[in-house]
Amino acid sequence: MFNALVVNEDDAGKTSAAVTQMSVDQLPEGDVTVAVEYSTVNYKDGLCIGPGGGLVRNYPHVPGIDFAGTVEASDDPRYKAGDKVVLTGWRVGEAHWGGYAQKARIKADWLVPLPAGVDTRQAMAVGTAGFTAMLSVMALEDHGIKDGPVLVTGAAGGVGSVATAILAHLGHQVAGVTGRPETAEYLKSLGASQIVAREEINETVKRPLEGETWGGCVDAVGGAMLARVLGQMQYGASVAAVGLAGGAGLPATVIPFLLRGVNLLGIDSVMQPYDNRLRAWERIARDLPMDKLEAMVRPATLSDLPALGADILNGQVQGRVVVDVNA
Ligand code: NDP
Repeated sequence: MFNALVVNEDDAGKTSAAVTQMSVDQLPEGDVTVAVEYSTVNYKDGLCIGPGGGLVRNYPHVPGIDFAGTVEASDDPRYKAGDKVVLTGWRVGEAHWGGYAQKARIKADWLVPLPAGVDTRQAMAVGTAGFTAMLSVMALEDHGIKDGPVLVTGAAGGVGSVATAILAHLGHQVAGVTGRPETAEYLKSLGASQIVAREEINETVKRPLEGETWGGCVDAVGGAMLARVLGQMQYGASVAAVGLAGGAGLPATVIPFLLRGVNLLGIDSVMQPYDNRLRAWERIARDLPMDKLEAMVRPATLSDLPALGADILNGQVQGRVVVDVNA
């Protein structure tokens, strides 16, 4: 028997989450069984621990969109017992039971071997948010990062914290947008050289183009903030659009694309092919300083998850929550 955070739905459609004992034969089908060591709390997890937000296919459900651990049994020749692995994406924790359990059974295709120099806890300090931050930096690099500051929105959150640390480590000036002024010192410790108040970017401006300020942008917020940022990009610069913490609408004009050649790059971490995932994890091992990663971590256990799920939906989590599923 092992522990899992199980979410159930009652006849009235109300969900409730509780740590529950279960056995291996209850796990969904898959070709690799993993002894999970760590998982994390992402924005989507907040939805799946709570009412589901349309993401959860069936109840009872075990959320947790990412995990790292050790292979216990494998029917796939690519993995053997004892291998250290990491999983992000593929709708695990949404359509398939995820990482909020001491064991998981999944498809071998969804796994990546842990890169050298990154242990299971560090892998989950990175987690889906950090993996997505790395994909964003790689997308910006592919299109060319201009001189001048690179803007990171939602900077104190998971994606934003890791993007800030990676970009600073790569030698870029980083400007972090935050709605929480008290996180300024934290963001500077990750390498941000400039802190921009959320209200400053959110103020209403009628002009579709402003001064050419940002040499690139990782945007975790979307909505009105993304619309404003588009008009502040340097000529030919790119925005990696990751998230919608500030809204799914985009009240923008086409002017920044037409007159400034701005690129809007959509980033999806869920369906990344194996080679891209491997390349991103190798870059994480190389370009994310592990001491800065440690500064982002808030430890948690399975029983902390219902409260943390609500916190992340309210934008109250700083950095990365690492869940020790065996604690
Ligand atoms: P977090 O909650 O950790 O961070 C989001 C940050 O955005 C908050 O910390 C806050 O930063 C800021 N924020 C929150 N609400 C608002 C608001 N109303 N207006 C402006 N800023 C706001 O989440 P993650 O970093 O894990 O994820 C960020 C987004 O990226 C989410 O929408 C998530 O779903 C998405 N995502 C997408 C992925 C993909 O594959 N495309 C993968 C992973 C995440 P601050 O306090 O500093 O202002």
